[in-house]
Amino acid sequence: MSVKSAEFRTCRCGGKRAYEDERTAEKALGRAQAMRHRVGDRKGTRRGLYRENRHYQCVYGMWHLTAQSRAEYLGAAA
Ligand SMILES: [Zn+2]
Repeated sequence: MSVKSAEFRTCRCGGKRAYEDERTAEKALGRAQAMRHRVGDRKGTRRGLYRENRHYQCVYGMWHLTAQSRAEYLGAAA
């Protein structure tokens, strides 16, 4: 486990968290989901929790996490 895996940068596309490769983005996504599951378990429900559910590569070649579905993402970009 490297220190680098915990790092993220800002991206020219405006994304606040950008990962340099897909594997790092996937690991970050897993951590984000695990964290929110714990919060949901404390509350007794996971409904209504905002959570990232996928990762994607932007036009600058960086990877981001998003809670939007692919359709929502494409709709927002149009
Ligand atoms: Zn980006």
